[in-house]
Amino acid sequence: MATATALKPSGPKKLPPPNSDFYQFAETLGADELAVLKKVRTFMETKVAPIINKYWIEDAFPFEVLPAFKELNVGGLGIQGYDCPGGSQLLIGLVAMEMAKFDASIATFFGVHSGLAMGSIALVGSEAQKQKWLPPMARMEKIGCFGLTEPLVGSGTGGGLTTTAKREGDTWILNGQKRWIGNAPWCDISIIWARDLADNQVKGFIVENKTTPGFSVEKMLGKIALKVVQNGQITMKDCRVPEANRLAAGTQSFRDTARVLRTTRYYAGWETTGTQMGAYEHALKYAQERLQFGKPIGSFQLIQDLLAKMLGNITACQCMVVRCAQLADEGKLTEKQSALSKAFTTAKTRETVSWARELLGGNGILVDYNVARFFADAEAIYSYEGTYQMQNLIVGKTVTGFSAFV
Ligand SMILES: Cc1cc2nc3c(=O)[nH]c(=O)nc-3n(C[C@H](O)[C@H](O)[C@H](O)COP(=O)(O)OP(=O)(O)OC[C@H]3O[C@@H](n4cnc5c(N)ncnc54)[C@H](O)[C@@H]3O)c2cc1C
Repeated sequence: MATATALKPSGPKKLPPPNSDFYQFAETLGADELAVLKKVRTFMETKVAPIINKYWIEDAFPFEVLPAFKELNVGGLGIQGYDCPGGSQLLIGLVAMEMAKFDASIATFFGVHSGLAMGSIALVGSEAQKQKWLPPMARMEKIGCFGLTEPLVGSGTGGGLTTTAKREGDTWILNGQKRWIGNAPWCDISIIWARDLADNQVKGFIVENKTTPGFSVEKMLGKIALKVVQNGQITMKDCRVPEANRLAAGTQSFRDTARVLRTTRYYAGWETTGTQMGAYEHALKYAQERLQFGKPIGSFQLIQDLLAKMLGNITACQCMVVRCAQLADEGKLTEKQSALSKAFTTAKTRETVSWARELLGGNGILVDYNVARFFADAEAIYSYEGTYQMQNLIVGKTVTGFSAFV
């Protein structure tokens, strides 16, 4: 005879909500830092997610979200003092990953401003420069960019920058071009890396680009990835910059530029991991809802195999970047470790987002279904902050003892 329990009408099956933090890394944060992460999540969920596809299609930056972004108080995250919020490397990483889970362009905009531009000043700026520039940048009243790459020099920036700096008394005169510079078409402060004609060494300069004669920016058009980030081609014709704006604490060679890149490269590892998470969560939700042959496609074995492989990639990448954050917090993260994580995580992301795209069938190439945006954006992260090949050459040199750079 059937029991009362067995006769109870069963409602629709309650399905597990998508969760790409399978090993619960966010929970390793202390209460205060977890609260920051949750604030960022709410901002991304409520302000960014509903509008981002429109901006992605239009190749435009959503200035409408900036007021709420400023209220997050995350400008200069990780930097101590100068009105910056401080915070652990793990928090910086988890915030970047959380942003990228919703949109990689927003994570990139923030990474360029807070990590590359503010990070350059914090790492190699003088005390006076930090006091002058970091507080308004922390409040995001002034937005920064980082100009290293040039039209003719990308991977080879370490050996061959063509932008020049010539000293005349207390003034430096900059000439040359920079390409691909994120935030450049509308930002206020450009960190420009140029070769000193006197000693042939690379030096960094803080340029107030809106008021410096000879400084112009052309927005780059026709991108198929990270379309929300506005990239620019900068041209400098006899731009005069005061000696007080030369990053002075130690910038005597490209080694100082590399110090900045060491931290921001592994930041790219967090961004790309978040990109995979976003693609996976959208794909999983789709698999739970999309019916074929009268059943949710998520109930098919081959679809579950795709999802398990995606989650495996994501979790492996999370383990890697979390360990890098621990090393960074201990002051031990090396350029080589950073390079390995950037190469591995970006390569795995390409695999994950293509599986997510595949899972959605035709809808995988429609922006409205979200996965297409992550699929395309993964390509840019694979190449910026040093390509896959350059990172592996750094690792290859470390493990073999032979440099294979040409
Ligand atoms: C969306 C986006 C945002 C960006 N934002 C910024 C920014 O804000 N600031 C900034 O300064 N730059 C920025 N960049 C530039 C980025 O860092 C460069 O694109 C990157 O360093 C590669 O340079 P490149 O594109 O000139 O490629 P190239 O250097 O021309 O490389 C082309 C190919 O050759 C390979 N290659 C080159 N040398 C070797 C070698 N020795 N051995 C083997 N293979 C090699 C590369 O791996 C690559 O596959 C951005 C780029 C993109 C796409």
